[in-house]
Amino acid sequence: MSNSNHKETKSFQAEVKQVLDLMIHSLYSNKEIFLRELISNAADAADKLRFEALSDDALFEGDADLHVWVEADKDKRTVTIRDNGIGMNRDEVMENIGTIAKSGTRQFLDKMTGDTSEDSNLIGQFGVGFYSAFIVADKVTLTTRRAGASASEGVRWESEGAGEYDISDIERVERGTEIVLHLREDENEFLDDHRLKSIVHKYSEHTPVPIRMMGTAPITEESEEGEEKTSEAVIETINQAAALWTRSPSEISDEEYESFYKSVSHDYEAPMARMHKRLEGKFEYTLMMFIPNRAPFDLWYQESKHGVKLYVRRVFIMEVTEDLLPRYLRFMRGVIDTNDLPLNVSREILQRHPAMDAIKKGAVKRVLSMFEDLAKDADQYQKFYNEFGNAIKEGIVEDSANSERLAKLLRFHSTKDSAAKDSTVSLSDYVGRMLEGQDKIFYITADSLAAAKNSPHLEIFAKKGIEVLLLHDRIDEWLGSHLTEFDGTSLQSISKGKLDLSGIGSEDENDDDKEKNEEAIKPLLEKLSKFLESQVQEVRETDRLTESPSCLVSDEFAMSTNMERILKEAGQQTPGMKPILEINPDHALVKSLADSDDDQLEQWAQVLFDQAVLSEGGQLEDPSGFVRRMNQMLLKCN
Ligand code: ADP
Ligand code: MG
Repeated sequence: MSNSNHKETKSFQAEVKQVLDLMIHSLYSNKEIFLRELISNAADAADKLRFEALSDDALFEGDADLHVWVEADKDKRTVTIRDNGIGMNRDEVMENIGTIAKSGTRQFLDKMTGDTSEDSNLIGQFGVGFYSAFIVADKVTLTTRRAGASASEGVRWESEGAGEYDISDIERVERGTEIVLHLREDENEFLDDHRLKSIVHKYSEHTPVPIRMMGTAPITEESEEGEEKTSEAVIETINQAAALWTRSPSEISDEEYESFYKSVSHDYEAPMARMHKRLEGKFEYTLMMFIPNRAPFDLWYQESKHGVKLYVRRVFIMEVTEDLLPRYLRFMRGVIDTNDLPLNVSREILQRHPAMDAIKKGAVKRVLSMFEDLAKDADQYQKFYNEFGNAIKEGIVEDSANSERLAKLLRFHSTKDSAAKDSTVSLSDYVGRMLEGQDKIFYITADSLAAAKNSPHLEIFAKKGIEVLLLHDRIDEWLGSHLTEFDGTSLQSISKGKLDLSGIGSEDENDDDKEKNEEAIKPLLEKLSKFLESQVQEVRETDRLTESPSCLVSDEFAMSTNMERILKEAGQQTPGMKPILEINPDHALVKSLADSDDDQLEQWAQVLFDQAVLSEGGQLEDPSGFVRRMNQMLLKCN
């Protein structure tokens, strides 16, 4: 056998095999999406060529009419999708649609729900769109040649979607990529031009590259018998193919916005909100931005990318990066188009252009207004917040220039909440109803809402009727360390440092009594401190408990015990600061300690400490020791 065409048979990587297996056997409820995915790849290829040709016009090879061609052949039972975009060389074919699973592949497999219509909707978001060809085809033949390469550098790739593919070198005069789908037995519906056209309308109407098919046009012929109406074959452009964002908002229907959104986001749901504005000032640009209805699957993955595209004079330049939108807004979808950036310079130079900064500032401002508009309707905003609230919190830390605006967008559960799970308050709500004499926003952090709500730290606040915000998300610890002030009022964690609530609300303490108590309890505190020396910094009388015997407090400037726990669980080093144990001298249990001998007291000390740990949602170092001590005491009570 001649080896001149360098034919190789290669295996797909295990994860690619799994994806193919899913495509073939599970995702049959929404088969038509294969066309959306292949057209989207063809349109990307056109965008890439247009961009590369900015600095090397020769890449057009004399043909700058970029388009996608779709055609069905009833005899051969094939559907062909062809583009004259950038094309691929041999290495690129192997890398992009061959051996190596891309980063999204594993996540795609993890995310599969088993609900086939939902799962097939996810394909495009995960960068596994090409493989959807195998939903309808039992053999796929791809031929391609990269723009600028010679005709002899063509590549042919073919696979039946089992475990392997063949790759060989071929002669290919035309630039770009052609994908031939050899349809499975039951898929004849896709041989019908009307069906194909309707799928193009449904998913690819606003793909900014013309999608062409063969069609018919009526003609009138003069003959001896008079006029005769027949038709002739003509090339039709199926989609609108115009950059939707260049049209005036008043001329764009909701349906058009929605279908454009779906094509830029690969989402299958309508967006939660949209904004379309042309901004004029020192720099001119157009923003068309969408908030997805649900958080993108990869929002919290390290490698998640921005979902907005940058165009310059309607030429796609790149996916937006941090130069154009801060990272916490990576869940936004849409397009930014400007005439004020140079077209034929490198991305590096582009990124340093002064217009970038101005556009970034303007875009962030407008996006924040979108959030503020949503916030006018509490129910709607809660939906947004459930999806993207943590991104807003990230923004407080990342985007200090806008942190005040972002802080107004925060929502928290609170001790003054109604029972509803989704009922939350803003910091402005809180400040607006602070008690007479109160000059701080109080909050508690815990690792669940229930733990926060039931924390012994809240007792004195409940008694005095002071509202406390209940922060129970992991990111809240981090937020708390950055958000120290809101609108001139400082925020204070109620589990840190000494509390001074005097002067808030009504005063009911009798200071003389208090001093007497302090004297009486001093010897006990000293003993407890000694017994717990290795576990706590100090044992002191509490100013926050009314019902519970003990609680843990951290130093004002130390890390909270909740934060320490989070770091430890994440396998990180912690400063290992010991907490302070606070004792409630009015509690019956504490009162009864006065009569205990030292041996007993040592056991009691440990129980008080362990209880305080447990009520914070913490874990005991020696749980069975705790149980043993408790049992001993229960027996003694009998
Ligand atoms: P994604 O489009 O999200 O990257 P796909 O599985 O759809 O994932 O495509 C994988 C890759 O294969 C693309 O990123 C691209 O590099 C390459 N590719 C697919 N189709 C084409 C095409 N028509 N022209 C050029 N490259 C293509
Ligand atoms: Mg794709």
